[in-house]
Amino acid sequence: MKSLTLSLCFVIGFATTALAQSPKFTRQDTLRGSITPERAWWDLVHYDLGVKVDPEAKTFSGQNTVTYKVLTEAKTMQIDLQHPMKITEVMQDGKALKFLQNGNAWFISLKKKQVPGAVNNLTISYGGRPQVSKRPPWEGGVTWTKDNNGNDFIVTTCQGDGASLWWPCKDHMYDETDSMTISVTVPDHLMDVSNGRLRKTTDNNDGTKTFEWFVSNPINNYGVNVNVGDYVHFGEVYDGEKGPLDCDYYVLKDNLKKAKTHFEDVPKMLAAFEHWFGPYPFYEDSYKLVEVPYYGMEHQSSVTYGNFYKNGYHSTDVSGTGWGFNFDFIIVHESGHEWFANNITYKDIADMWVHEGFTAYSESLFLDYFYGKEASEEYVIGTRQNIRNDRPIIGYYEVNKSGSGDMYSKGANMLHTLRQLVNDDEKWRMMLRGLNKEFYHQTVTSDQVEHYLAMQFGGNLRPFFNQYLRDVRIPVLEYKADGSGLSYRWTNTVENFAMPVEVTIDGKAQRLKPTGEWKTLKLDNPAKKVEVDKDYYVESKLVK
Ligand SMILES: [Zn+2]
Repeated sequence: MKSLTLSLCFVIGFATTALAQSPKFTRQDTLRGSITPERAWWDLVHYDLGVKVDPEAKTFSGQNTVTYKVLTEAKTMQIDLQHPMKITEVMQDGKALKFLQNGNAWFISLKKKQVPGAVNNLTISYGGRPQVSKRPPWEGGVTWTKDNNGNDFIVTTCQGDGASLWWPCKDHMYDETDSMTISVTVPDHLMDVSNGRLRKTTDNNDGTKTFEWFVSNPINNYGVNVNVGDYVHFGEVYDGEKGPLDCDYYVLKDNLKKAKTHFEDVPKMLAAFEHWFGPYPFYEDSYKLVEVPYYGMEHQSSVTYGNFYKNGYHSTDVSGTGWGFNFDFIIVHESGHEWFANNITYKDIADMWVHEGFTAYSESLFLDYFYGKEASEEYVIGTRQNIRNDRPIIGYYEVNKSGSGDMYSKGANMLHTLRQLVNDDEKWRMMLRGLNKEFYHQTVTSDQVEHYLAMQFGGNLRPFFNQYLRDVRIPVLEYKADGSGLSYRWTNTVENFAMPVEVTIDGKAQRLKPTGEWKTLKLDNPAKKVEVDKDYYVESKLVK
C-alpha cells in the first residue's frame, strides 16, 4: 500500500463545482446523434461497401448495398453522408428511389412496402472529395500523403466525426451491422488493408486492383477503415485462449526489419489482455496491426499504428513515472480497445468513457501482468497528472457529444479505485472478464456497465459512479485528531457518497467507512500521522 502523508497537509485546491455552460445543439446534431424514427424502424444486417480511391482526383466513389431487417412498417429511411460527399442514386429491387437531403442526413422514400420481419436491401451510389483530415485521428477525414519513396499513402479516420465522412451508412453507434464486405479499388502498385480477412484480390486490368475484405463479426462504423500504401506483410500465429489466432502485420517496405522486432509487443499484449479481459473478441477476423501516417486508432481487427517503432507515446510516458517506456503505448492502448470499444461498444458517444476509461486502465493492467502490481499502481496513479476535472466525463446524450477528456486518466483512476473497493484481485479480474462476456459484441450504455459492476461487486455503486462520471468534484476526506480519537467525514461529494477508504494511522492500516457526517474512531493514543491509501483517487484535509 502506498500512501499520501496527510500530515503534510496535502491540500489541493477544491475543484470548482461550477459546470461549464451547456453547449448549444442544432437540428443537425439531433439528426446525427439520436435514434430518429427514420433509423429506428430498421435493423442493420450487412453492408457491402465498394469504394474506388483515386489519388489523382482525391476522390472516393462507389456504392454501399445495405441489407436490413424491417422492425416496423415505414416509408422513409435515413442514411448519413457528410458534405461535400453526395448520394447520386438509390436503387431497390431495380427501381430508382427519390431522396431528400437535409445537411448530412439523407431521407430516402421507399416504394416497396416494408413488411416487419422482411430482410430487404438497397444500393446507394455516392462519390466526391471527402473532407481532408487536418489532425488525424482527432479530426476525421481522409489523409492523402506519400511515404519516403514517393508512393501514395492514403488512410481514413473518423471516430466522433463519423464514418459518413467517407461512406454512406446509418451513422449512429447503437446499431452495428452483423457483418461487412469492404472492397477497395486502388492503383495496382498499391495495396488496401481494411478490416477482417482478405478474401479476394482482383486485377482489373485498367491500372487498378480491388482488395475485398470480409468482416464476419458485428462492427461499429468508425471501426471500418481504408489504408492504402506500399505495404509488405508478415505474420505469426498466437496460441490464445480460443486456439490459434492469426496475427498479420502490414507495414511500409522500409520498416519491415524494425517492425519484425518491435511488434513483439503484440503477443505480449494478447497474453496480458486475454488474462485480464478474456479471449480476444474477433478470432474469426484475425488480429492485424497496420502502419499509418498518424499515431493510431482502434479499427476493429485492423488496429492502426504510427508510433515510430518506439516505446512510450510519441517518445513520452503519459504517466511520468518511467513505466510507460516499457511498452509501445499505441500497440497496447489501441489493441486494448478490441475489448473495450469493439467488443463492448458505446451506444451513444456521451458514454465514451466505456471505451477510453477501461482502455487507459488496460495500460496499467499490461504492466501488472509483466511487471507486477506495484508498477501498475504507480503508472495509473502517475496518469493523474493528466486530469483536469474541467467537465464531467459523461457528455450530452442524443447529440453526438462526448464528455471531458478526463474519460481517459480519470476513468482509469476511477476503475483503479473500484479495484480497491472490490479488495479481491481475482474477483476484480472476473468482473472485467465478465463484462466482456455479458456484453459480448454488443452496444451498451454507461448505466448498463455500472449496473453490471455493482451487481458483481454486491453493493450500491450509484453514488460512486455519479461522483466520478457525472460530477467534477474529487471527494475530500476531512479529518481531525484529538485526545479521544480520529474524526472523519467525506466532503465535496455527491449525495449519499459513502465510499470506504483505506487509511494508515500511526503505521496501522484501517478501513474507514466515512459518510457526509462526522464519525469518530476511538484511539488509545492521539493520532500523530494519518495517511490515506494513494490507490484511492481522493484528496484529504486535516481540519483544526
Ligand atoms: Zn483510446
